[in-house]
Amino acid sequence: MIVEVIAVGTELLYGHTVNTNAAAIGSRLADGGLEHQHSSVVGDHTGRMVAAIRLAMSRADVVIITGGLGPTQDDITREALAEATGRPLVFSEDYADRLRRWWASRGREMPDSNLRQAEHPKGSDLLENPKGTAPAIRLDLGDRLIYAVPGVPPELEALLDLHLIPDLTERADKRVVLNRILRTYGESESRLGEALADIYSDGNPSMAFLATAAEIKIRLTAKADSTDKAEKLVAPMEAAVRERLGDLVFGTDDETIEQIVMDLALAKGWTIGTAESATGGMLASRITATPGASAFFAGSVVAYDERVKVEVLGVPGSMIVEHGVVSEPVAMAMADGAASVLGCDVAISVTGSAGPDPQDKPVGTMVIAVHTPERTMARTVSLPGDRERVRAYTTTGALHLARRAMLGEWWQGSPPSGRWL
Ligand code: ATP
Ligand code: MG
Repeated sequence: MIVEVIAVGTELLYGHTVNTNAAAIGSRLADGGLEHQHSSVVGDHTGRMVAAIRLAMSRADVVIITGGLGPTQDDITREALAEATGRPLVFSEDYADRLRRWWASRGREMPDSNLRQAEHPKGSDLLENPKGTAPAIRLDLGDRLIYAVPGVPPELEALLDLHLIPDLTERADKRVVLNRILRTYGESESRLGEALADIYSDGNPSMAFLATAAEIKIRLTAKADSTDKAEKLVAPMEAAVRERLGDLVFGTDDETIEQIVMDLALAKGWTIGTAESATGGMLASRITATPGASAFFAGSVVAYDERVKVEVLGVPGSMIVEHGVVSEPVAMAMADGAASVLGCDVAISVTGSAGPDPQDKPVGTMVIAVHTPERTMARTVSLPGDRERVRAYTTTGALHLARRAMLGEWWQGSPPSGRWL
C-alpha cells in the first residue's frame, strides 16, 4: 500500500510557511512502516489541485491532502477533491448543527461562510477534529482512499494520531522500515560516496548520505515484514560499511558527539572545561545542552579579548607577540590555563579568525587545542564559509578532537588529508 501526500497552500510555495506538515506526516508514515514515495506542494488553485490529486491517485493507493479546508474563498480543497473524483459536494446537516453548537457554546453567532465546512464529496465521511472546527474528510473509493485534513499543524497532528495512522496501519500489509544511521566525521561526502561505491544500493537495503554541519550520516534502510528480517537485511551492509570506513564512524543512530564525549568523560571520571575565543561559548553551550552535563562539565572561560587570555588563562603576553593570537602555542596555553583555572581534567580551547575581517591570520584559520592529563596538543584548520559556518564547524571539530584525545588517539603531525578535521 503506497501513500502519497499533497500539501496545499500558496504560502508554502512562497516560503512564507515552512511545510512542517509534510515532515509530521512523513515521520508518522515511516514509524508505522507505511510506504511513502511522493510528497508534493500545490498552490491554492483549483485546476492545479485537481491535476495534483489525479496524479497522486494514479500512482498511490492512499492520498493525504493537507490544508485548504478553512471557511475562506481561497480554501478550495473540497471543490478540487469533488472535481478530481467526480463526486459532487453534498451538505451535512448534522455537521452544520455541530458547527452551530460549537459557536453557540462560545456565545457567538456563526458566520454563514463556516457552513462550507459541512460540505464534503458525496459518499465521504467527516472525521471529528478534536482541535478545531474543520473536520477531516475521508473518501473511500474502493481501490483508492483519500483523506483531506486541515492544514493547521496541531489539528493535522491530532487527526493523524486519532484517525489516519491507526486506519492505515490497520489496512496495510505489515511492513517494518528499519533505519540504521552510521555517523561519520573526518571525510567529505564525495570521498565517502567513492569509498562505498561498490556497497551502495538503492534497493533493499538502501544507502543514503546526509550531510549535516561537518558530520556525514550514512543511512541504511531496510524494509521487511518483521524487525528481525529487516535487521538481517541491514546487518551485512552495516558490517561492510564499518569495515571500509573504520574509525571514521564515531556513532550510531541517535548518538551525538556531545553524548559520546559525555560518556567518555564519565567512564574515565574526568571533568571537562572550555576556553573559547572565536566560538564565544558555543562549545560550552553544545556540551551543556545534553542532560546530565553537570556530572562532568566544569565551566567555560570565554576569553575573547587578549587581556582575558593573558590575565585569566595565564597565556604569556610574549607568546601572543611572537606567534600571534591565532596560533597553536596560544591555543595550547589557553587549554592548559583553562584546566588550571577551572580545575578540570580535560580542557578544549579555540582561537581563530572567523571573519568577515581577518584577525591575526586569514579568515577561516581556526586553532583547536585539547588538554588531557596525558598531554596537550593543537590542530590548525582552514575552514571555508561565512562566520556562522566557520564557528559551527569549529565547534563540531573541537568535540571530535576532544574525543580522539580522550581516547589517547593523539594526532601525529599532519593527519592524512581530510581526516579528522
Ligand atoms: P483552517 O480551518 O484553519 O482554515 P485549513 O485547512 O484551511 O485550516 P490552511 O488555511 O491551509 O488550512 O492553513 C491554516 C494554517 O496552517 C495557516 O496558518 C498555515 O500557515 C498553516 N499550514 C497550512 N499548511 C501547512 C503545512 N503544510 N505546514 C505547516 N503549516 C501549514
Ligand atoms: Mg490555506
